[in-house]
Amino acid sequence: MSASRNLDSTLDGIHVLDGGLASELEYLGADISGPLWSAHVLEDAPDKILAVHRAYIATGAQCIETASYQVSRMGYGEFGLAPECADAALVKALMLARRAVAEFPEGRVQIAVSLGPYGAALHNGAEYHGDYNCTHADLAAFHRERIAVLADLLHDEILAFETLPSLDEARAIGEALAPWPHLHAWFSFTCRDAQHVAHGELLRDCASYVGALPQTVAIGVNCTQPSLIAPLIGELRTASNKPILVYPNSGEGWDAQRRCWTGISDPEAYGAKAAEWFAAGAQIVGGCCRTRPAHIHQVAEAATRSVAH
Ligand SMILES: [Zn+2]
Repeated sequence: MSASRNLDSTLDGIHVLDGGLASELEYLGADISGPLWSAHVLEDAPDKILAVHRAYIATGAQCIETASYQVSRMGYGEFGLAPECADAALVKALMLARRAVAEFPEGRVQIAVSLGPYGAALHNGAEYHGDYNCTHADLAAFHRERIAVLADLLHDEILAFETLPSLDEARAIGEALAPWPHLHAWFSFTCRDAQHVAHGELLRDCASYVGALPQTVAIGVNCTQPSLIAPLIGELRTASNKPILVYPNSGEGWDAQRRCWTGISDPEAYGAKAAEWFAAGAQIVGGCCRTRPAHIHQVAEAATRSVAH
């Protein structure tokens, strides 16, 4: 019991996560059009990543995610980059987040190391269906490589396994994490409806599995339509007592044919939804694709009101 209480304390008092990174980098003038945008922004414009971290902390984020969602040896290898480049990028992203956090000594800001799913390294949107052309062992090896690079460097930072499309990938990560029971991880799934993850398994089954892992400090849903979040929180609640985190997309829709976002996103409406998610049982709320500091400001306001009640 004491061990699990100790793990859970990494998120004590944390209610507000940051928002989208890519859209904010774009806003700051970074070129993120390439398939390995994070690699090249980490290399060419680390100051822009720092600026995004700063903007989110200043607006109320109590936890920020590193700029490493797409960083993996496999993804880098496809573009002729050596494995050491991927490992170095992972470390660099962590160091940038630590630098940003150190600039705000007055408040506690947690760091979560963003680790995208296998599909994110394929650059073809496969994370949104989870039908990968690989073995379960490949999947575990993909995740183990990144965990091994980070394991000795982490203090109380969290490994954020996110946009997970399937139970199979969650299991592969659980197996990859096994040699490091002391690490802290959160597992966040991308969902296609109010009950199922993108690949089709029940979210509650995924939550039951990851909830039993010694490393798990929170379970959540991200990169999903905001309208689905309230019922999905209910699904998580039935399966696990772990803290729940949700960071959906802004509410705009992705038009795959025209390759553009459609609709509009209103930060105030997002904040109103955040209040509903806190009331439904979420401990931590942030934003995924297309959310910006204005959204996180509204989430922070909602958090203050929710915690006061
Ligand atoms: Zn997203």
